[in-house]
Amino acid sequence: MRARLVAGNWKMHGNLATNQALLEVVRGLSGDERVAYAVCPPFPYLQQAAGLLAGSAIRWGGQDLCEHDSGAYTGEVSGAMLRDLGCRYAIVGHSERRTLYAETDERVAAKFEAARRSGLTPILCVGETLAERESGQTETVLARQLQAVLDRAGVKALAESVLAYEPVWAIGTGRTASRDQAQSAHAFLRGMVRKHDRAIGEELTILYGGSVKPANAAELFGMPDVDGGLIGGASLAAADFVAICEAARN
Ligand code: PEP
Repeated sequence: MRARLVAGNWKMHGNLATNQALLEVVRGLSGDERVAYAVCPPFPYLQQAAGLLAGSAIRWGGQDLCEHDSGAYTGEVSGAMLRDLGCRYAIVGHSERRTLYAETDERVAAKFEAARRSGLTPILCVGETLAERESGQTETVLARQLQAVLDRAGVKALAESVLAYEPVWAIGTGRTASRDQAQSAHAFLRGMVRKHDRAIGEELTILYGGSVKPANAAELFGMPDVDGGLIGGASLAAADFVAICEAARN
């Protein structure tokens, strides 16, 4: 049975007080062998999350990391620092990093490797823009983004990683991919990995991200190649995040 995960990406939201209220609810969730839950707060709040989530079933991670291990990189955060704060995951290649901060496929691949060097599980995000979808390029874009990581890190690296299909047009827009659109992209990504290594492709956890809400989580997570979700906006509302996590259990 493939491992499932629901991870909340808080983006640049929250403060000590609102985080505490949210974490106090989230830490009541119980994971099991099949479904894990995680939150990815902004860097300054990772220590707060570590304190409040210690001893619970909930994992935490960084929203990004530097591709270098240490050195003169003002403003950056290394994988070792995230590990020091107990992080299990690091998101790499989120579309906001790719578009707002001009992260190339090669840089994302370097970050993916940096996460693994530090003992973190990378959550590698890939996804097409609306223009790319409308011009029939979805699979070309997904293949290019994934291939950059396969070229640099090799297929074996995906055995200890998580992939997230996040269509850019669905992120933060309220416009969710239909379950068939999600399934088709997930099956394409899994098929690509399977061509390199059948077992790794079969076992790879592939999350869907893009306006997941309690109302649509169950139908998305019910698709055969959708193994959970990367949740932005709805992960900031405790009741919504809990409902989405519960949908991944069924
Ligand atoms: C995200 O930030 O990765 C995301 C999927 O956001 P939202 O759920 O708000 O669309």
